[in-house]
Amino acid sequence: MSKVSCEIVKDMLPLYYDNVCSDDSKRMVEEHLVECDSCKMELDRIQADFKLPKEEIERNNNDGNVIKNISSFWNRSRAKSFIKGGIISALLLSLITLGYFGLFHWHITNVPIDVVEIKDVSEMSDGKIVYYSEINDGYSLNRLKYDMDKEGNFYITPLRPMIKQKAQSLNVLEKGYEFIDIKEQEIFRGEEIKTINYGTPKEKILIWKKGMELPKASEEIENMFDFN
Ligand SMILES: [Zn+2]
Repeated sequence: MSKVSCEIVKDMLPLYYDNVCSDDSKRMVEEHLVECDSCKMELDRIQADFKLPKEEIERNNNDGNVIKNISSFWNRSRAKSFIKGGIISALLLSLITLGYFGLFHWHITNVPIDVVEIKDVSEMSDGKIVYYSEINDGYSLNRLKYDMDKEGNFYITPLRPMIKQKAQSLNVLEKGYEFIDIKEQEIFRGEEIKTINYGTPKEKILIWKKGMELPKASEEIENMFDFN
C-alpha cells in the first residue's frame, strides 16, 4: 500500500486535476494512482464531471471571442463604410459640381454661325471698330472669346454652355453693339491685326480687313463707347 492514505489523495485529486498542487503533491498523487485503482477511478469521475463544463467554458470563451471579433469587425467595417461613404459623397459632390459648371457655365460650345447676323460696322474717332451683332436662335450667349492666329487673323468667338439657355431678355451679347480696340489688342498680343472675324477659323463672318474703309461711327455710338 501507499505511504499516503486514499482519503488524502482523494482530497487532493481536484487540485491535481486542476494542476494547481505543488510538484511534490503531484508526484505523490501520481505514485499513489499507479497502485490504487479506487483513486484512479475517482480521478476518472472528476475528469468526466469536469470535462463538459471545461468544454463549455472553452466554447463560451470562443463564443465570447467570436462576439468580440464580430463587434470589432463591425466597428472596423462601420469605420470603413463611414470613410467610404465620405469619399463617395465627396466624389459625387465634385462630380455634380463639375457637371453643373460643365453643362451650364463653361463656355465651351460655339454658336453656329448661321444664326449670327453682323451689321453696321463702323470706325470710331479713336480707331476702335464697332459692330452690331445679333444671335437669332433665342438662346443666351455667355461670353465672347478673343483669339488671334499667327497670320494676324483676329477671332471674336461667341460661346455658350453645353446646355443652352433661353435668353430671358436679350442682353448686349446677344443683340447689340460691341467694339474691338485694335490698337490695344495689337499692343497686348504684340502682332498686327490683319482681319477681324466673328466666329471660328472654320465658321466666320468677316467684320474688317486691313485696308478696308469703314464709315465713321455715329455720334450715338461714339457716346456709347466713350469711356473717357
Ligand atoms: Zn487510493
